[in-house]
Amino acid sequence: MKKLILLILAFTLLGCFKTSKNKFEKQSFGIVIHGGAGTILKKNMTKEKEKEYRQALSEAIRIGYDVLKNGGPSKAAVEKTINYMEDSPLFNAGKGGVLTSEGTIELDASFMDGKTLNAGAVSGVKKVKNPISAAIKVMEESPHVMLSGQGADIFSQIHNLEIVDQDYFFTERRINGLKRLQNVEKLKGVYKTQNDRSFLENQRYGTVGCVALDKSGNLAAGTSTGGMTNKKWNRIGDAPIIGAGTYANNLTCAISATGWGEFFIRAVVAHDISAIMEYKGLSIQEAAYEVIHNKVGALGGNGGIIGIDNNGNIAMEMNTSGMYRAHMNQEGKLDVKIYKDE
Ligand code: ASP
Repeated sequence: MKKLILLILAFTLLGCFKTSKNKFEKQSFGIVIHGGAGTILKKNMTKEKEKEYRQALSEAIRIGYDVLKNGGPSKAAVEKTINYMEDSPLFNAGKGGVLTSEGTIELDASFMDGKTLNAGAVSGVKKVKNPISAAIKVMEESPHVMLSGQGADIFSQIHNLEIVDQDYFFTERRINGLKRLQNVEKLKGVYKTQNDRSFLENQRYGTVGCVALDKSGNLAAGTSTGGMTNKKWNRIGDAPIIGAGTYANNLTCAISATGWGEFFIRAVVAHDISAIMEYKGLSIQEAAYEVIHNKVGALGGNGGIIGIDNNGNIAMEMNTSGMYRAHMNQEGKLDVKIYKDE
């Protein structure tokens, strides 16, 4: 009898061990993407639109997943996935970017390599078709980290990246978005302070981002955006700022953010998540929660992040009603989500 009890105990313990081992099983690679956060409510979404977004997210993430599965680097996975999203008019990046108060399109992007801590960024570009590729070129083929405006477009052209007319980026939806916000501005006046919520009214964040862990254990993060509708005076958001919108470090994690950029800059979101993991030993999920809710949220900002750590654990955290997002693990299990409570 005693022996039987001991045997049952041993099996139970073994069972526990197996479950916990499975739960924390290290992933050899993985990828997470976002297509922006914001007031995304089911009641405002048509079935067709929802399907379109879910399909675009699925197609985009599969591009990066295939790169990783075949042993390719996280850098290529991030670049190719974001290129797809930049080319899609659905997202606020590349084609389909939002308009400035002057009716132009100024794009921002950044990339960071978790192994070397090398990084590259462009801000306020108007001609390069795929700003994330320009950011990677800055990292690889210039002594600088961030280039802006005309210089960044010229640099892109010199490095043989595709150059397009501004017309290429415009979509009717974003033209209407500018009109709507400028009407709000006529009624409420121009925003005056960093905390003025009238600026935020009707804003939706459609920035795109991708983070990946490859089979060599290297992390990478990239973010690309048109910024915020009706932005003025060559405003630059968090997306091209290393440490705010994008950060990657093989010691910890890779992060890409989307949201009200001014707050993400002030809370230094992407780096803060990594720093909390590094210095306090928190998990990626705990660190992301802390920064999005207790730092960005406490300041009055909103948005979300996606992240992956060096074991393939992920975080998709937001304080908005939704964030277009998707994850694929090493087994190829695909998770596509839009609303917060999915
Ligand atoms: N974070 C971006 C910005 O402030 C906007 C977005 O996420 O869509 O420029």
